Amino acid sequence: MRDELSRRAMLGLGAAALLSTRGGAQPGDGVGFAVVGLGKLSQGQILPAFRTCRSARLAALVSGHPEKAHRLAAEQKLPESAVYSYERFDRIAADPRIEAVYIVLPNFLHADYTIRALKAGKHVLCEKPMATSVADAERMVAAAKAANRKLMIAYRCQYEPLNLYGMRLMRRGALGRPRLVVTNMGRQSDLADPSDAWRLDMRMSGGGALADMGIYGINGARYLLNEEPVAVRAWAQTARRDPRFRSVEDLIAWEFRFPSGAISTGTTSFDQAGTMAWEVYGTRGKMVADPGCFYGGNRLAVSAGPGDGQPKIAEVDQFAREMDWMGDIVRGRAPMVSPGEEGLQDMRLIRAILESVARGGATVPTDFGYRRAVDPAKAVRA
Ligand code: NAD
Repeated sequence: MRDELSRRAMLGLGAAALLSTRGGAQPGDGVGFAVVGLGKLSQGQILPAFRTCRSARLAALVSGHPEKAHRLAAEQKLPESAVYSYERFDRIAADPRIEAVYIVLPNFLHADYTIRALKAGKHVLCEKPMATSVADAERMVAAAKAANRKLMIAYRCQYEPLNLYGMRLMRRGALGRPRLVVTNMGRQSDLADPSDAWRLDMRMSGGGALADMGIYGINGARYLLNEEPVAVRAWAQTARRDPRFRSVEDLIAWEFRFPSGAISTGTTSFDQAGTMAWEVYGTRGKMVADPGCFYGGNRLAVSAGPGDGQPKIAEVDQFAREMDWMGDIVRGRAPMVSPGEEGLQDMRLIRAILESVARGGATVPTDFGYRRAVDPAKAVRA
């Protein structure tokens, strides 16, 4: 009992991060993950990341393409029995090798597969955006509660050292009182690329560039300021003749108002040079992360009096880190930092931005009552 109490106290204080990054994992006790959807992200980042994981290990693959799935399974040294089709997906319930499921499907499939995995008794790590509608996101949160299983949304930047460094500067007040957060997340898109085709379809993506990349700016402003916006107004610039933008908006600019008086302006586009950058201006200093949310090569410049300069921040494999974090949550060694509710908050904010766009920039209230339970700046060790 006493041990349990002190363990909980430690989790509350964020000491779990010490355990998880300093070898709390024993060899062989990694949580077995099934990866669902073997597209660009899974093949390019997630499967390779398992090699460096300590608290997570690859246990199964779920795919609609048997040839690809068996080829990748052989490469990953998984047995044939660890390959599931979508039709056989629910049979994972009877497979003890699988403890958690990582959903890496197009956005419109996240809710269905997350809920099925939870019903099968598995924990779920789900890619962002967690769904294509607020209603689906709410169903996912409810399903996790009903199943008494963990649902974590894969907000990799909340576990990434440069972003954590920036959060900690903010928490220490190193820039003075925060006034303005500027985020710009976008790139060129290509309708001929199947991986972009669904992103350019409103039904499948839930919001084009906003749902795919703008969400990093929405989430970033919230974790940098450590507060939730109370209102938003937004407008879009979309060339409907461009076949890429038949159903989704292209360039969207929004402005969030925060209770502290800070403002965050965000922009996103699928017809611009690639960037994932953020800037923060306080009363006494500023910091610029450009890029701030790439898989690697992020750079931070801080101008805050004695703290001036470009801090050297170690790079990590962001996907290994978040899968290890999920593994540590399942093993009771780490607190939940980015739960379903965190993803639901972004879904509500995406909906509010699109509502404001549709209403010609009208102010839309956004205080949905959500407050972050665990601050990554305190819980996650950089
Ligand atoms: P992708 O299109 O390359 O891969 C999706 C996979 O799902 C493909 O293998 C495809 O065959 C499969 N699929 C199954 N059913 C499908 C259907 N009905 N229609 C279309 N595809 C179907 O996409 P991706 O770039 O790998 O993205 C997957 C998810 O990961 C998305 O939710 C995306 O937002 C997220 N993502 C996150 C990051 C990050 O940095 N965290 C980066 C890229 C993508």
